[in-house]
Amino acid sequence: MPVKDQIEAFVTKYIVSYRGNNSKADFWGAPLFAYADANDPLFLELKHIISPTHLLPAELLPDSKTVIAYFIPFNKPVVDSNVAGEMSSEQWANGYIETNKLIVGINEALSKELKKQGYQSVILPPTHNFDENTLISDWSHKHIGYIAGLGTFGLHQMLITEKGCCGRLGSLVTDAVIEPTPRPVQEYCLYKHNKTCRRCVARCFSGALKTEAFDRHRCYELLLENHRHHNRKELADVCGKCVSIVPCSFQRPKSS
Ligand code: SF4
Ligand code: SF4
Repeated sequence: MPVKDQIEAFVTKYIVSYRGNNSKADFWGAPLFAYADANDPLFLELKHIISPTHLLPAELLPDSKTVIAYFIPFNKPVVDSNVAGEMSSEQWANGYIETNKLIVGINEALSKELKKQGYQSVILPPTHNFDENTLISDWSHKHIGYIAGLGTFGLHQMLITEKGCCGRLGSLVTDAVIEPTPRPVQEYCLYKHNKTCRRCVARCFSGALKTEAFDRHRCYELLLENHRHHNRKELADVCGKCVSIVPCSFQRPKSS
């Protein structure tokens, strides 16, 4: 079986088994996968677009060949639960915390599996790998997902995939050679496509998200307010109002 198929089967099985071992962890649909050439010139662009400190695949793994990116969508009940009110729902916060744990588990297990087959890999944390003052990450899963062809950016700054934008992204760098996934040729976001939607802007109670600008610091204040609200031992820096029940929540909008 090609290594790509083995990876996808391994991760999919891991999620099913994780859910089976934890009856409270019923948050997810089936994952999506995409693969980038580790030498894709867009990785270098991230040093200009995001920060000079944003890492290149080769800075993580000198002989890297491929970046594996995946998206784990939240299921409908999780997203539905997050529509009402100004604070994120408990289910949304739980889904975020549990998915971060799941991604750590997937990456560690997949890295071991790749090693058994003779491939090196480097795993990345699912989140909280950013500077708390600038809020800039040294490895942006959203941008990695874009380069790998998982989807395109929405007006809400999130990646819209074939299974929407509600979920979490993970990635690994490996020296296994896997054919890159073609990037989408059109914008999935309806605003970017033909300006027919701004639902996410209307959903942002804090005013952080505007049509022409995004205030990441105002957004992060809201995420921390949610963390205090949920009062969990794990960091629940969540909100997700701008992605919960909008045209791109569960799929690429039909007319995009
Ligand atoms: S809600 Fe509409 S405008 Fe906002 S990202 Fe989704 S498709 Fe684009
Ligand atoms: S996560 Fe919350 S605060 Fe941030 S842009 Fe979306 S709705 Fe606004």
